[in-house]
Amino acid sequence: MSGTNGINDPSVSASTTTTTTTATQADEHVFLPRGTVLIAGGGPVGLILARVLSYYGVRSVLFERNKTTTSWPKMDLTNGRSMELFRKLGLADDLRRQGVPPHIDQDVLISSGLASKEAITRWELPGVDRFRQRIHEHNDGTQPQEPYQRLSQALFEKWLKAICDQDPLIELHYGNKVESVQETADHVKTTVTNVETGKSTVYVSDYVAGCDGASSRVRKSLGFPLDGGPVPKCVLLVHFKSRDLSRLHVQGQFWHIFFLSDHAEGGFGSTIIAQDEVDTWTTHLFLPLDAEPDKIESHDAVYRALGGLHGPYPIEIDEVLVRSVWRPNIAVTRQWSSAGQRVHVAGDAAHQNIPTGGYGMNMGIGDAFDLGWKLAAVINEQAGRDLLQSYEAERKPVALRNVERSGVHFQLHDRLKDEFIAGGDPHRVDADTEEGRQLRAAIHEYYQQHDGENKDFGIEMGYRYQSPVIVPDREATEPAWTPSQYTPTSWPGGRPPHVFLSDGTAIFDKFGKHWTLLVFADDSQNSTSGQELVAEAAASLSIPLKVVALPGEDLAKRLYEKPLVLIRPDQHVAWRGDQVSSLQEAEKLLNVVTGRVRPDSTAGEGQKAAPSVAFTATQELTTQVEDFKLEKMAAFQM
Ligand SMILES: Cc1cc2nc3c(=O)[nH]c(=O)nc-3n(C[C@H](O)[C@H](O)[C@H](O)COP(=O)(O)OP(=O)(O)OC[C@H]3O[C@@H](n4cnc5c(N)ncnc54)[C@H](O)[C@@H]3O)c2cc1C
Repeated sequence: MSGTNGINDPSVSASTTTTTTTATQADEHVFLPRGTVLIAGGGPVGLILARVLSYYGVRSVLFERNKTTTSWPKMDLTNGRSMELFRKLGLADDLRRQGVPPHIDQDVLISSGLASKEAITRWELPGVDRFRQRIHEHNDGTQPQEPYQRLSQALFEKWLKAICDQDPLIELHYGNKVESVQETADHVKTTVTNVETGKSTVYVSDYVAGCDGASSRVRKSLGFPLDGGPVPKCVLLVHFKSRDLSRLHVQGQFWHIFFLSDHAEGGFGSTIIAQDEVDTWTTHLFLPLDAEPDKIESHDAVYRALGGLHGPYPIEIDEVLVRSVWRPNIAVTRQWSSAGQRVHVAGDAAHQNIPTGGYGMNMGIGDAFDLGWKLAAVINEQAGRDLLQSYEAERKPVALRNVERSGVHFQLHDRLKDEFIAGGDPHRVDADTEEGRQLRAAIHEYYQQHDGENKDFGIEMGYRYQSPVIVPDREATEPAWTPSQYTPTSWPGGRPPHVFLSDGTAIFDKFGKHWTLLVFADDSQNSTSGQELVAEAAASLSIPLKVVALPGEDLAKRLYEKPLVLIRPDQHVAWRGDQVSSLQEAEKLLNVVTGRVRPDSTAGEGQKAAPSVAFTATQELTTQVEDFKLEKMAAFQM
């Protein structure tokens, strides 16, 4: 919906104003109702942030420079952690209906080209049905509540926009570009230009979220330095329709194939992505930076990508949908929030990574959830303004670690040539000789030992926040963290374990919309652990809290480690303990976790210093503050 009438004075509360945004006075100044969040950018992160805010009863107005959602095939996997969050919003089942059917497995193949007899090796990745079965069979806290889901970004955005269009708390204004933001003591002024009329309007709001992608104007306005750098390659993407399955599936059905390529002297040189298991595909041809990809015709690019080591492999292409040259890039913004905590950046505006691992949008969804519930809690007066400071402290370390990991995954492919092929004819990898067999066995072993690209649960759901609103456990030792595995623990700051309870219900489904106190005490019906004190304190502080008593749930009790575990709205542990012994103690606890009072220590505040070394897979570390630029970058990266 697009609001078009009325003027709202910022001093008037949202409940007594109309809900629209048209300027009628003050020279193009529009005052959004109190408590409205202005969102710059209608990519996946801006749209999902609008939905998180709406879930918590907060109004948003979103400006997107394009007139429609994207047609670029970027993200194609929503991971298990994001699906858990979508489930909380009530969107997971509907999202799945848009995507690849659940019975289809999603193997990743490593191949020397489709003309070879068979792929060299594969990562066997289950489809949603088999993944779900695995989750049920391993009810030990190591699994996500929800399997991942394949869905191309072009379809994802269209689906999410349609949901936002129907939402009375969300106003979408496509065809409107955010030019700049300016924070003052008690509001933010955002200048927006209508791309058709050229008319500029200044919107005045309490808060702004910059979800405006890699070239974020919001980030630039705030002068946040972006540290990172691109990999020394450019990529020619061709997105196309083809029903030539007999040629495409010659080595079996696949989700992705990574090809050893002639133009890469036998090293990794191209990929294909099956977008929908019907007729939509994307090839990426990785080229040296000095190549001239514009001179490669789209059909030829697809044939070259699929041919690998063996020269072009033609297929029937029904239609080329889009093509572009783009540049894999790794970067993280040094600051995430403005001095007054009224402006925050999220998604690709805050971090960019190489697509290996599928971390980009999934991290952005984590940002949107973290920022969304906190903004809502502050706006709804269920938290103190200091809660917003924890956004950068919590999300920046996740971004630094994940973008680095995307480079580690990328290097696995990029090192193929040096590890196995260099110093001889690359075609020997396919030869029916002892050397060929040994080479293939070695490559197989190499990929089987490094198979974390879409399995690294430590990265995807094992991240633990340290911030002033997380109460540390000073009595125990923090469990070890590894990128590859999620360690079931209720360690404060982490996502607690998913587990099915004795009646088959998932524990996450027992959590409340806002805060949850889990009580594992054996006498939890007549408590001595003090849960009623926490409930009483929450009521007196206007903090919505659901107390969930779980007597007799021995498995969950063991995995959750403590009799009392306080869960935040984003399903992270805020505090755990044996008991609360006074109302005063309960109030102090709730005041700390909602940012109303500062804790004794402020461990984990965001690091403002620049990283001192480049990321894996990037050659040099550069810092950009003004306009974002990369050599050979695509329109969808701007
Ligand atoms: C080939 C490829 C494969 C990928 N695969 C995956 C994957 O499997 N999983 C995954 O999680 N991620 C993946 N990613 C990354 C993912 O696409 C991005 O991380 C994601 O799009 C980020 O979402 P966003 O909303 O933050 O930014 P964007 O998608 O860039 O959206 C930003 C929006 O803001 C708009 N905008 C920009 N400037 C302005 C302005 N001044 N005013 C108003 N609007 C503005 C843009 O038009 C755009 O619509 C992949 C990326 C690529 C390139």
